[in-house]
Amino acid sequence: NDARTLQLEITRYGRDEALVIVRDVTRLHNLEQMRRDFVANVSHELRTPLTVIAGYLETLEGSGQAPKPWQRPLAQMREQTTRMTSLVNDLLLLARLETSERDTGREQVPVCELVERVAREARSLSADRHNIVVDCPQDAVLTGDAGELHSAFANLALNAVKYSPDGGDIQLRWSMDERGGHFSVRDSGIGIDPIHIPRLTERFYRVDAGRSRESGGTGLGLAIVKHVLLRHSGELSVESRPGRGSTFALHFPPHKLTSTAET
Ligand code: ADP
Repeated sequence: NDARTLQLEITRYGRDEALVIVRDVTRLHNLEQMRRDFVANVSHELRTPLTVIAGYLETLEGSGQAPKPWQRPLAQMREQTTRMTSLVNDLLLLARLETSERDTGREQVPVCELVERVAREARSLSADRHNIVVDCPQDAVLTGDAGELHSAFANLALNAVKYSPDGGDIQLRWSMDERGGHFSVRDSGIGIDPIHIPRLTERFYRVDAGRSRESGGTGLGLAIVKHVLLRHSGELSVESRPGRGSTFALHFPPHKLTSTAET
């Protein structure tokens, strides 16, 4: 009950000297746990009222009985309710991911199938405004949590749509080499200034908050991606040029993969 959390920092000096610093971070650790629990509880409690509001709004709009001056406000209320629902769902998912950073998923996920599914979702969001292509020459099976992996892959693909002007090209690609498997999403969109790149995976960090909100973003997508990767021994890389486009990629080590090329 009285467990303490200690942080150990070891700096070596030459061959036989070392400085060892032990910090008691129990209080910090407990506070962080309280923050996570609080966010998870609030998000969970907000779900039911949101579902009720969304249900009534749908009934009102669908009935065709709403007086004309109400129609615009009703549409806006529905839009904002959808936004709030996404936010609450993302906060809950993030709280769940943050509670454990261990590899736990043992599902076998066929990669090309996942990439195709994510491409369909991106095409649906794009509504034919972008040219979305898939390149998956060598299939594999990824070991992990299917739902979490889908969230990570989908976030990158949906961002490419959200941050690319109409007519843009988007490529979803899966490739493998001796270092492992790589899923990349390349877009010819607005790009990102290099100063922002190190902070993109922070919660609610956005380069342009107005644009993110307008496109339905919650500012939590890349934070979710980061935590999914931590749980799958994966890494994120970002290359971008403002005005030219970006490539976001997820890298998975060989022990997470089974190649299905021969089957
Ligand atoms: P959001 O919900 O705002 O999209 P994310 O965490 O997914 O949140 O992304 C954080 C920020 O990174 C975005 O607000 C946007 O500024 C930037 N970003 C992400 N993906 C891209 C992309 N493909 N092109 C340009 N900017 C991007």
